[in-house]
Amino acid sequence: MTQSLQNYRRITVKIGSALLVDRSTGLKREWLASLVDDVEALTSAGADVLVVSSGAIALGRTILGLGKRALKLEESQAAAAVGQIALAGAWSDELGRKGLKSGQVLVTLGDTEERRRYLNARATISTLLKMRAVPVINENDTVATTEIRYGDNDRLAARVATMMGADLLVLLSDIDGLYTAPPALDPSAAFIPVVDRITPEIEAMAGGAASELSRGGMRTKLDAGKIATTAGTAMVITLGSRLNPLSAIDRGERATFFRPSASPVKGYKTWIAGQLEPAGRLVVDAGAVGALLSGKSLLPAGVKQVAGSFSRGDTVAILGPEGREIARGLVAYDAADAVRIAGLKTAEIATVLGYEARSAMVHRDDLVVSRPAEPMRVEG
Ligand code: GLU
Repeated sequence: MTQSLQNYRRITVKIGSALLVDRSTGLKREWLASLVDDVEALTSAGADVLVVSSGAIALGRTILGLGKRALKLEESQAAAAVGQIALAGAWSDELGRKGLKSGQVLVTLGDTEERRRYLNARATISTLLKMRAVPVINENDTVATTEIRYGDNDRLAARVATMMGADLLVLLSDIDGLYTAPPALDPSAAFIPVVDRITPEIEAMAGGAASELSRGGMRTKLDAGKIATTAGTAMVITLGSRLNPLSAIDRGERATFFRPSASPVKGYKTWIAGQLEPAGRLVVDAGAVGALLSGKSLLPAGVKQVAGSFSRGDTVAILGPEGREIARGLVAYDAADAVRIAGLKTAEIATVLGYEARSAMVHRDDLVVSRPAEPMRVEG
């Protein structure tokens, strides 16, 4: 198993808030210094390291003395503003102590979901890496609103990792890996060392639990895993709270390894496959499922149901007759037209729409089929 971090050339490391911030004492400097030692070891061996660091809101809360009470949106935005400046300063100090430069990158959802902005963010981050500066990335929580945000840094980190062509994503967490059930609730839960593919059965193991400080539980980690592995990025979930948590992986400490797809999507399709919020859903018939699996476009004739209000060019999820997502793609019609032509043969479309239109509802060039089934291993 290629779990050793030495095997990877570009590594994105996601750090949860609870690892970096203590509610009463603030930033955990000793822990951060130990993590930075690990980062420095990887970069001096030639790897690129990108950091996705949570902790802005938690740190801002502590600095502002806001206690544990629930915060209004504008209060958490203000806490993020206070926390982020301290957080970035701590990263810059600690990385600097090891002779490493760093650059702060704050992103909002549109920076990865809109194609033009995605290319722009990618160019900036690649330039930082070329300049041998460690990108320290977080969501721009100060301007993010409840409706328009990643919300959790697990998926943000997966989006960044795949955007940057990282071959590994490490999620440092408050749990040491994936279990057959949440171990805090079920003592008989068995640890899973390797996941070949994130199946619905694997997803059922996640439960919904999140810790007090972190937004994501195991569910957002598996969502991150799907984004990463589809694009050929391996993922590791391991306990972050010990000192030197990255070198701990190489020492053989417990971690769950998610194997990347053997036939990953590439380039433009990576952007499509990782879209976080499809604008709509198309339910298709069995014939269309077969066509999609053999690499064909989705024709209107195979579409049974259209849901959501989307525009031409938006991402839609394509579901099989039993409701499971089988593909994702950019739709060639607005929702209103898609409803009108669903189920129609190509020859009938122009008459209904009143104009000569494209024959595909989702063209094969704009479409990514979900990963085919592979076996799963469980350690008893
Ligand atoms: N972006 C949030 C912060 O820095 C954290 C999100 C998360 O916990 O996943 O406070």
